[in-house]
Amino acid sequence: MNLPPLTLGIGDRFGHQGQAQLRALQYARAEGIEVSPVWNKSNREHALIGTEPPSLRAEAEEAVTALGWMYPYFVDADHINLKTVDRFLEASDFFTIDVADSIGKTPEPSAVDRLVAKHAGKPLEYPGLSSPILRGPDEVRAAAAKFLCAMQEAGEVYRHIASLKPAGSFAVEVSTDEASAPQTPAELYLILAMLADEGVPVATIAPKFTGHFNKGVDYEGNVGDFTREFEDDLIVLKHAGPALGLPEGLKLSIHSGSDKFLIYPVINRLVKKHGAGLHLKTAGTTWLEEIAAVAASGEEGRRLAAGIYADALARYEEVTAPYATVLHIDRAKLPPAAEVSSWDGARLARAIIHDQSCPDYDPNVRQLYHVAFKLAAEAGTKFTDLLKLHDEAVGTAVTGNLWERHLKPLFL
Ligand SMILES: [Zn+2]
Repeated sequence: MNLPPLTLGIGDRFGHQGQAQLRALQYARAEGIEVSPVWNKSNREHALIGTEPPSLRAEAEEAVTALGWMYPYFVDADHINLKTVDRFLEASDFFTIDVADSIGKTPEPSAVDRLVAKHAGKPLEYPGLSSPILRGPDEVRAAAAKFLCAMQEAGEVYRHIASLKPAGSFAVEVSTDEASAPQTPAELYLILAMLADEGVPVATIAPKFTGHFNKGVDYEGNVGDFTREFEDDLIVLKHAGPALGLPEGLKLSIHSGSDKFLIYPVINRLVKKHGAGLHLKTAGTTWLEEIAAVAASGEEGRRLAAGIYADALARYEEVTAPYATVLHIDRAKLPPAAEVSSWDGARLARAIIHDQSCPDYDPNVRQLYHVAFKLAAEAGTKFTDLLKLHDEAVGTAVTGNLWERHLKPLFL
Protein backbone atom coordinates (compact mmCIF):
# COMPACT_ATOMS: atom_id res chain seq x y z
CA MET A 1 0.00 0.00 0.00
CA ASN A 2 1.28 3.47 -0.83
CA LEU A 3 1.27 6.13 1.82
CA PRO A 4 0.18 9.74 1.52
CA PRO A 5 3.21 12.01 0.97
CA LEU A 6 3.33 13.36 4.51
CA THR A 7 2.72 11.19 7.56
CA LEU A 8 3.44 11.79 11.20
CA GLY A 9 4.04 8.92 13.58
CA ILE A 10 2.47 9.63 16.93
CA GLY A 11 2.81 7.56 20.06
CA ASP A 12 0.35 7.52 22.90
CA ARG A 13 1.51 5.16 25.59
CA PHE A 14 -1.62 5.32 27.75
CA GLY A 15 -4.15 5.58 24.96
CA HIS A 16 -6.06 8.61 26.24
CA GLN A 17 -4.92 11.32 23.83
CA GLY A 18 -5.96 10.06 20.39
CA GLN A 19 -8.44 12.89 19.90
CA ALA A 20 -6.06 15.55 21.25
CA GLN A 21 -3.38 14.31 18.85
CA LEU A 22 -5.70 14.19 15.89
CA ARG A 23 -6.88 17.73 16.62
CA ALA A 24 -3.33 18.97 15.93
CA LEU A 25 -3.50 17.33 12.49
CA GLN A 26 -6.84 19.04 11.94
CA TYR A 27 -5.21 22.38 12.72
CA ALA A 28 -2.59 21.52 10.11
CA ARG A 29 -5.26 20.68 7.50
CA ALA A 30 -6.93 24.02 8.22
CA GLU A 31 -3.61 25.65 7.29
CA GLY A 32 -3.35 23.57 4.13
CA ILE A 33 -0.82 21.07 5.46
CA GLU A 34 -2.00 17.57 4.58
CA VAL A 35 -0.41 15.28 7.11
CA SER A 36 -1.87 11.89 7.97
CA PRO A 37 -1.46 10.34 11.39
CA VAL A 38 0.19 6.99 12.02
CA TRP A 39 -0.44 5.80 15.54
CA ASN A 40 2.58 3.79 16.56
CA LYS A 41 3.31 1.63 19.54
CA SER A 42 6.17 -0.82 19.67
CA ASN A 43 6.20 -4.29 21.07
CA ARG A 44 8.42 -3.01 23.88
CA GLU A 45 5.91 -0.32 24.86
CA HIS A 46 3.01 -2.75 24.81
CA ALA A 47 5.03 -5.06 27.05
CA LEU A 48 6.04 -2.32 29.51
CA ILE A 49 2.50 -0.96 29.83
CA GLY A 50 0.63 -4.23 29.54
CA THR A 51 -1.50 -3.39 26.50
CA GLU A 52 -2.34 -5.32 23.33
CA PRO A 53 -2.20 -3.99 19.76
CA PRO A 54 -6.01 -3.93 19.21
CA SER A 55 -6.27 -1.21 21.88
CA LEU A 56 -4.31 1.14 19.63
CA ARG A 57 -6.60 0.44 16.68
CA ALA A 58 -9.60 1.12 18.92
CA GLU A 59 -8.13 4.41 20.07
CA ALA A 60 -7.39 5.52 16.51
CA GLU A 61 -10.87 4.64 15.31
CA GLU A 62 -12.52 6.35 18.23
CA ALA A 63 -10.57 9.55 17.59
CA VAL A 64 -11.27 9.44 13.86
CA THR A 65 -15.00 8.98 14.45
CA ALA A 66 -15.25 11.58 17.21
CA LEU A 67 -13.50 14.25 15.15
CA GLY A 68 -15.02 13.31 11.80
CA TRP A 69 -11.57 12.81 10.26
CA MET A 70 -12.13 11.98 6.60
CA TYR A 71 -8.53 11.47 5.56
CA PRO A 72 -6.15 8.53 5.71
CA TYR A 73 -4.80 7.26 9.02
CA PHE A 74 -2.76 4.23 9.96
CA VAL A 75 -1.96 1.98 12.89
CA ASP A 76 1.69 1.00 13.01
CA ALA A 77 3.15 -2.26 14.29
CA ASP A 78 6.28 -0.44 15.30
CA HIS A 79 9.67 -2.16 15.25
CA ILE A 80 8.41 -5.68 14.75
CA ASN A 81 10.27 -8.76 13.55
CA LEU A 82 9.36 -12.35 12.73
CA LYS A 83 9.13 -13.22 16.43
CA THR A 84 6.86 -10.34 17.45
CA VAL A 85 4.73 -9.55 14.41
CA ASP A 86 1.89 -12.02 14.88
CA ARG A 87 -0.07 -10.28 17.59
CA PHE A 88 -0.03 -7.09 15.50
CA LEU A 89 -1.39 -8.65 12.32
CA GLU A 90 -5.06 -8.02 12.79
CA ALA A 91 -4.92 -4.51 14.26
CA SER A 92 -2.23 -2.97 12.06
CA ASP A 93 -2.14 -1.66 8.51
CA PHE A 94 1.39 -0.31 8.72
CA PHE A 95 4.34 -2.50 9.65
CA THR A 96 7.75 -1.19 10.65
CA ILE A 97 9.98 -4.15 9.93
CA ASP A 98 13.07 -3.73 12.08
CA VAL A 99 16.06 -5.63 10.78
CA ALA A 100 18.84 -3.73 12.56
CA ASP A 101 19.79 -6.77 14.63
CA SER A 102 20.70 -8.71 11.49
CA ILE A 103 23.08 -6.11 10.16
CA GLY A 104 26.55 -7.60 9.85
CA LYS A 105 25.47 -11.25 9.65
CA THR A 106 27.43 -13.14 7.01
CA PRO A 107 25.41 -13.75 3.83
CA GLU A 108 25.56 -16.78 1.53
CA PRO A 109 28.43 -16.27 -0.96
CA SER A 110 26.15 -17.17 -3.87
CA ALA A 111 23.66 -14.50 -2.83
CA VAL A 112 26.46 -11.96 -2.72
CA ASP A 113 27.56 -12.98 -6.20
CA ARG A 114 24.03 -12.57 -7.52
CA LEU A 115 23.80 -9.10 -5.98
CA VAL A 116 27.10 -8.06 -7.56
CA ALA A 117 26.08 -9.44 -10.95
CA LYS A 118 22.82 -7.55 -10.85
CA HIS A 119 23.68 -4.24 -9.21
CA ALA A 120 27.38 -3.48 -9.67
CA GLY A 121 28.00 -0.85 -12.28
CA LYS A 122 29.41 2.54 -12.95
CA PRO A 123 28.95 5.33 -10.39
CA LEU A 124 25.53 6.94 -10.28
CA GLU A 125 25.62 10.69 -10.66
CA TYR A 126 22.16 11.89 -9.80
CA PRO A 127 21.88 15.67 -10.07
CA GLY A 128 22.46 17.39 -6.76
CA LEU A 129 24.28 14.55 -4.99
CA SER A 130 27.26 15.72 -2.95
CA SER A 131 29.28 12.83 -4.40
CA PRO A 132 28.45 10.03 -6.85
CA ILE A 133 27.08 6.73 -5.58
CA LEU A 134 29.87 4.20 -5.99
CA ARG A 135 28.64 0.71 -6.77
CA GLY A 136 31.60 -1.18 -8.09
CA PRO A 137 31.91 -4.87 -7.17
CA ASP A 138 33.88 -3.99 -4.02
CA GLU A 139 31.27 -1.52 -2.81
CA VAL A 140 28.45 -3.97 -3.51
CA ARG A 141 30.29 -6.76 -1.65
CA ALA A 142 30.95 -4.47 1.31
CA ALA A 143 27.28 -3.47 1.46
CA ALA A 144 26.21 -7.11 1.17
CA ALA A 145 28.46 -8.04 4.11
CA LYS A 146 26.62 -5.49 6.22
CA PHE A 147 23.05 -5.51 4.96
CA LEU A 148 22.16 -8.48 2.76
CA CYS A 149 21.08 -10.82 5.56
CA ALA A 150 19.06 -8.04 7.14
CA MET A 151 17.22 -7.26 3.90
CA GLN A 152 16.61 -10.95 3.23
CA GLU A 153 15.04 -11.06 6.67
CA ALA A 154 12.89 -8.03 5.80
CA GLY A 155 11.71 -10.06 2.80
CA GLU A 156 10.90 -12.98 5.05
CA VAL A 157 8.88 -10.82 7.46
CA TYR A 158 7.09 -9.12 4.58
CA ARG A 159 6.13 -12.44 2.99
CA HIS A 160 4.90 -13.71 6.35
CA ILE A 161 2.61 -10.67 6.73
CA ALA A 162 1.51 -10.90 3.10
CA SER A 163 0.59 -14.56 3.56
CA LEU A 164 -1.89 -13.54 6.25
CA LYS A 165 -3.15 -10.14 5.10
CA PRO A 166 -4.45 -9.22 1.63
CA ALA A 167 -1.87 -7.62 -0.64
CA GLY A 168 -2.31 -3.86 -0.73
CA SER A 169 -4.02 -3.74 2.64
CA PHE A 170 -0.95 -2.61 4.55
CA ALA A 171 2.02 -0.30 4.21
CA VAL A 172 5.59 -1.46 4.69
CA GLU A 173 8.37 0.42 6.38
CA VAL A 174 11.84 -1.06 6.73
CA SER A 175 13.94 0.32 9.56
CA THR A 176 17.63 0.14 10.26
CA ASP A 177 17.65 3.17 12.53
CA GLU A 178 18.60 1.14 15.60
CA ALA A 179 21.84 0.01 13.97
CA SER A 180 25.11 0.98 15.61
CA ALA A 181 26.37 3.10 12.71
CA PRO A 182 24.61 5.48 10.29
CA GLN A 183 24.05 4.33 6.71
CA THR A 184 25.54 6.40 3.94
CA PRO A 185 23.51 7.49 0.90
CA ALA A 186 25.45 4.92 -1.18
CA GLU A 187 24.53 2.20 1.31
CA LEU A 188 20.93 3.38 1.19
CA TYR A 189 20.96 2.86 -2.56
CA LEU A 190 22.22 -0.70 -2.22
CA ILE A 191 19.79 -1.44 0.61
CA LEU A 192 16.96 -0.38 -1.71
CA ALA A 193 18.37 -2.66 -4.40
CA MET A 194 18.35 -5.57 -1.95
CA LEU A 195 14.77 -4.84 -0.92
CA ALA A 196 13.71 -4.64 -4.56
CA ASP A 197 15.31 -8.05 -5.17
CA GLU A 198 13.38 -9.43 -2.19
CA GLY A 199 10.15 -8.08 -3.64
CA VAL A 200 9.44 -5.92 -0.58
CA PRO A 201 7.04 -3.11 -1.63
CA VAL A 202 8.67 -0.68 0.75
CA ALA A 203 6.69 2.55 1.14
CA THR A 204 9.07 4.23 3.51
CA ILE A 205 12.57 3.48 4.74
CA ALA A 206 14.15 4.54 8.01
CA PRO A 207 17.92 4.64 7.86
CA LYS A 208 20.04 5.60 10.80
CA PHE A 209 21.11 9.19 10.24
CA THR A 210 24.28 10.82 11.39
CA GLY A 211 24.13 12.39 14.86
CA HIS A 212 22.25 11.42 17.99
CA PHE A 213 18.47 11.09 18.11
CA ASN A 214 17.97 10.69 21.82
CA LYS A 215 14.48 10.28 23.22
CA GLY A 216 12.51 13.44 23.80
CA VAL A 217 15.42 15.88 23.54
CA ASP A 218 16.99 17.87 20.74
CA TYR A 219 19.33 16.68 18.00
CA GLU A 220 22.97 16.32 18.99
CA GLY A 221 25.40 16.33 16.13
CA ASN A 222 26.68 18.33 13.20
CA VAL A 223 23.72 19.96 11.46
CA GLY A 224 25.79 20.54 8.32
CA ASP A 225 26.60 16.82 8.06
CA PHE A 226 22.97 15.90 8.65
CA THR A 227 21.83 18.38 6.00
CA ARG A 228 24.14 16.94 3.34
CA GLU A 229 23.27 13.34 4.19
CA PHE A 230 19.53 13.98 4.34
CA GLU A 231 19.51 15.76 0.98
CA ASP A 232 21.62 13.02 -0.62
CA ASP A 233 19.19 10.42 0.77
CA LEU A 234 16.23 12.32 -0.70
CA ILE A 235 17.94 12.43 -4.08
CA VAL A 236 18.79 8.72 -3.95
CA LEU A 237 15.17 7.85 -3.21
CA LYS A 238 13.82 10.12 -5.93
CA HIS A 239 15.93 8.46 -8.63
CA ALA A 240 16.65 4.98 -7.37
CA GLY A 241 13.11 4.18 -6.29
CA PRO A 242 11.67 4.19 -9.83
CA ALA A 243 14.86 2.76 -11.37
CA LEU A 244 14.72 -0.24 -9.05
CA GLY A 245 11.01 -0.75 -9.54
CA LEU A 246 10.09 0.18 -5.98
CA PRO A 247 6.63 1.62 -5.29
CA GLU A 248 5.82 5.12 -6.37
CA GLY A 249 5.99 7.62 -3.54
CA LEU A 250 8.74 5.79 -1.66
CA LYS A 251 9.89 8.16 1.05
CA LEU A 252 12.28 8.58 3.91
CA SER A 253 11.23 7.91 7.45
CA ILE A 254 12.90 9.71 10.30
CA HIS A 255 12.67 7.95 13.62
CA SER A 256 13.24 11.18 15.39
CA GLY A 257 12.90 10.13 19.00
CA SER A 258 10.85 13.36 19.08
CA ASP A 259 11.78 16.99 19.39
CA LYS A 260 14.68 17.34 16.95
CA PHE A 261 13.98 21.06 16.75
CA LEU A 262 17.48 21.91 15.55
CA ILE A 263 17.03 20.02 12.29
CA TYR A 264 13.31 20.67 11.71
CA PRO A 265 14.05 23.75 9.56
CA VAL A 266 16.46 21.68 7.43
CA ILE A 267 13.88 18.94 6.99
CA ASN A 268 11.17 21.48 6.16
CA ARG A 269 13.28 23.21 3.52
CA LEU A 270 14.65 20.08 1.83
CA VAL A 271 11.37 18.17 1.70
CA LYS A 272 9.81 21.17 -0.06
CA LYS A 273 12.84 21.71 -2.31
CA HIS A 274 12.67 18.14 -3.62
CA GLY A 275 8.90 17.79 -3.58
CA ALA A 276 9.55 14.74 -1.42
CA GLY A 277 7.31 12.90 0.96
CA LEU A 278 8.28 12.21 4.53
CA HIS A 279 7.33 10.02 7.42
CA LEU A 280 8.44 11.50 10.69
CA LYS A 281 8.01 9.30 13.70
CA THR A 282 7.87 10.93 17.07
CA ALA A 283 8.45 9.06 20.31
CA GLY A 284 5.98 8.80 23.15
CA THR A 285 6.42 12.39 24.31
CA THR A 286 2.66 12.72 24.60
CA TRP A 287 3.21 11.02 27.95
CA LEU A 288 5.49 13.91 28.96
CA GLU A 289 2.76 16.40 28.14
CA GLU A 290 0.42 14.32 30.25
CA ILE A 291 2.65 14.11 33.31
CA ALA A 292 3.61 17.80 33.11
CA ALA A 293 -0.05 18.83 32.89
CA VAL A 294 -0.94 16.48 35.73
CA ALA A 295 1.89 17.92 37.85
CA ALA A 296 0.55 21.42 37.28
CA SER A 297 -3.06 20.43 37.89
CA GLY A 298 -3.04 20.52 41.68
CA GLU A 299 -1.55 18.96 44.79
CA GLU A 300 -2.59 15.39 44.02
CA GLY A 301 -1.05 15.53 40.57
CA ARG A 302 2.08 17.23 41.80
CA ARG A 303 2.59 14.56 44.44
CA LEU A 304 2.09 11.74 41.95
CA ALA A 305 4.55 13.29 39.46
CA ALA A 306 7.18 13.93 42.14
CA GLY A 307 6.70 10.38 43.39
CA ILE A 308 7.30 8.98 39.91
CA TYR A 309 10.52 10.97 39.75
CA ALA A 310 11.67 9.61 43.12
CA ASP A 311 10.88 6.05 42.03
CA ALA A 312 12.62 6.55 38.71
CA LEU A 313 15.77 7.70 40.50
CA ALA A 314 15.60 4.72 42.85
CA ARG A 315 15.02 2.31 39.95
CA TYR A 316 17.29 4.16 37.53
CA GLU A 317 18.96 1.12 35.93
CA GLU A 318 15.69 -0.68 35.46
CA VAL A 319 13.81 2.17 33.78
CA THR A 320 16.68 3.34 31.59
CA ALA A 321 17.99 -0.08 30.49
CA PRO A 322 15.58 -0.64 27.55
CA TYR A 323 16.51 2.79 26.16
CA ALA A 324 20.19 2.92 27.07
CA THR A 325 21.42 3.63 23.54
CA VAL A 326 19.02 6.52 22.96
CA LEU A 327 19.38 8.42 26.22
CA HIS A 328 21.88 11.06 27.16
CA ILE A 329 21.24 11.69 30.83
CA ASP A 330 23.92 13.36 32.90
CA ARG A 331 23.16 11.41 36.03
CA ALA A 332 25.23 13.65 38.28
CA LYS A 333 23.07 16.58 37.28
CA LEU A 334 19.74 14.98 38.14
CA PRO A 335 18.27 16.89 41.09
CA PRO A 336 17.68 14.80 44.22
CA ALA A 337 14.16 13.52 44.81
CA ALA A 338 13.75 15.79 47.86
CA GLU A 339 14.48 18.86 45.77
CA VAL A 340 11.99 17.88 43.07
CA SER A 341 9.31 17.19 45.63
CA SER A 342 9.88 20.65 47.13
CA TRP A 343 8.92 22.28 43.82
CA ASP A 344 5.39 23.46 43.21
CA GLY A 345 3.50 21.81 40.37
CA ALA A 346 4.14 24.57 37.85
CA ARG A 347 7.88 24.47 38.56
CA LEU A 348 7.94 20.72 38.10
CA ALA A 349 6.02 21.04 34.82
CA ARG A 350 8.54 23.63 33.57
CA ALA A 351 11.41 21.21 34.20
CA ILE A 352 9.70 18.63 31.98
CA ILE A 353 8.26 20.76 29.16
CA HIS A 354 10.66 21.07 26.21
CA ASP A 355 11.07 24.83 26.10
CA GLN A 356 14.79 25.49 25.77
CA SER A 357 14.26 29.20 26.41
CA CYS A 358 12.92 28.45 29.88
CA PRO A 359 15.65 28.41 32.57
CA ASP A 360 13.79 25.72 34.51
CA TYR A 361 13.75 23.26 31.59
CA ASP A 362 15.99 20.31 32.48
CA PRO A 363 16.85 17.79 29.73
CA ASN A 364 18.04 15.26 32.31
CA VAL A 365 14.79 15.38 34.23
CA ARG A 366 12.82 15.25 30.98
CA GLN A 367 14.63 12.17 29.73
CA LEU A 368 14.26 10.36 33.01
CA TYR A 369 10.53 11.03 32.97
CA HIS A 370 10.40 9.93 29.35
CA VAL A 371 11.50 6.41 30.24
CA ALA A 372 9.60 6.35 33.55
CA PHE A 373 6.20 5.83 31.91
CA LYS A 374 6.30 2.28 33.22
CA LEU A 375 6.01 3.70 36.76
CA ALA A 376 2.92 5.67 35.80
CA ALA A 377 1.51 2.42 34.43
CA GLU A 378 2.21 0.87 37.81
CA ALA A 379 0.30 3.72 39.48
CA GLY A 380 -2.67 2.49 37.44
CA THR A 381 -5.95 4.35 37.96
CA LYS A 382 -4.28 6.83 40.30
CA PHE A 383 -2.62 8.22 37.18
CA THR A 384 -5.35 7.61 34.62
CA ASP A 385 -8.06 9.06 36.90
CA LEU A 386 -6.06 12.29 37.05
CA LEU A 387 -5.77 12.23 33.25
CA LYS A 388 -9.54 11.97 33.01
CA LEU A 389 -10.18 14.58 35.70
CA HIS A 390 -7.92 17.11 33.95
CA ASP A 391 -8.55 15.98 30.41
CA GLU A 392 -9.08 19.48 29.09
CA ALA A 393 -5.76 20.84 30.34
CA VAL A 394 -3.94 17.66 29.32
CA GLY A 395 -5.55 17.60 25.87
CA THR A 396 -4.75 21.26 25.26
CA ALA A 397 -1.10 20.56 26.11
CA VAL A 398 -0.97 17.50 23.84
CA THR A 399 -2.56 19.30 20.88
CA GLY A 400 -0.49 22.45 21.37
CA ASN A 401 2.74 20.49 21.59
CA LEU A 402 2.15 18.59 18.33
CA TRP A 403 0.94 21.60 16.43
CA GLU A 404 3.23 24.37 17.68
CA ARG A 405 6.45 22.47 18.29
CA HIS A 406 6.26 19.82 15.57
CA LEU A 407 3.81 20.28 12.69
CA LYS A 408 4.39 24.01 12.23
CA PRO A 409 8.19 23.98 12.10
CA LEU A 410 8.26 20.77 10.06
CA PHE A 411 5.71 21.51 7.38
CA LEU A 412 4.37 25.08 7.43
ZN1 LIG B 1 13.08 3.49 15.31
